[in-house]
Amino acid sequence: MNWRIHTLSTGDLLLPGFHESGDVIPTHAWALTDGTRWVLVDSGMPSEAEMRAKWKVEARGGGADMLRGALAAISVKPEQIGMIVLTHLHFDHAWNFELFPQAQIVVQRTELFHAIDPVPTQRIYYAKPSYLPLLDRRRPAGLRLIDGDMELLPGLSVMLSPGHTPGMQVALVQTERGTVGLVADLGEEYSAWFPADPRATKHPSNAMRGSFRPGSIRSESEMVYSGSMARVLTRAAIVVPAHDDRIPRMMPDQWWSVPNEAV
Ligand SMILES: [Zn+2]
Repeated sequence: MNWRIHTLSTGDLLLPGFHESGDVIPTHAWALTDGTRWVLVDSGMPSEAEMRAKWKVEARGGGADMLRGALAAISVKPEQIGMIVLTHLHFDHAWNFELFPQAQIVVQRTELFHAIDPVPTQRIYYAKPSYLPLLDRRRPAGLRLIDGDMELLPGLSVMLSPGHTPGMQVALVQTERGTVGLVADLGEEYSAWFPADPRATKHPSNAMRGSFRPGSIRSESEMVYSGSMARVLTRAAIVVPAHDDRIPRMMPDQWWSVPNEAV
């Protein structure tokens, strides 16, 4: 089964010095369809008001209104979303569940436990609205906890990919041009995936050719993180990170491994 993928802009975080590409960190989720069903991969971030109140972080947009608007722009209503695959439970990827009372949320069991008691450096990234509402959902209709790699629907699989978090999962989506890896924060910018390629990074390093540059937010070792990235590339023809503005907006119509690559 082939799917079509729409990238949704779900808000911006304004964090100076955090990314090499600038002080504005865009956040993205994805809506996928096989022509009949609609699936969401990640569910957006808190609103700018919530970001300011809870985290003292400036943001633009975000929240349920922005997510609803991004879905409306592709003529999808929240109630059409039958399944939500959460790559992980950080607040900028797992929020706004109130829009989707009927959807089945799919998350790795390991990730849910990590959300409750994360590695100390990640306590700031997990918040109760990202995991407590999950406990109130009916199982398995409203919440499906899984362990490891799994095909969820024909042409849509997840791969357990520890690195950024222990229970991170990457969505592998079959399209007519090949398989897309929606990697979210497992290498959250192209520079992580292609550290020697000047199309991907402002600071290309020849010493890094053929390797990966794992992000600084990670629960696992650099070796485990890089191993997960390598494993994704055994299945995915292209990868699409969550926090890079240069990602394709519609797939397979737009299709590139590296930004500015001829397609
Ligand atoms: Zn994250």
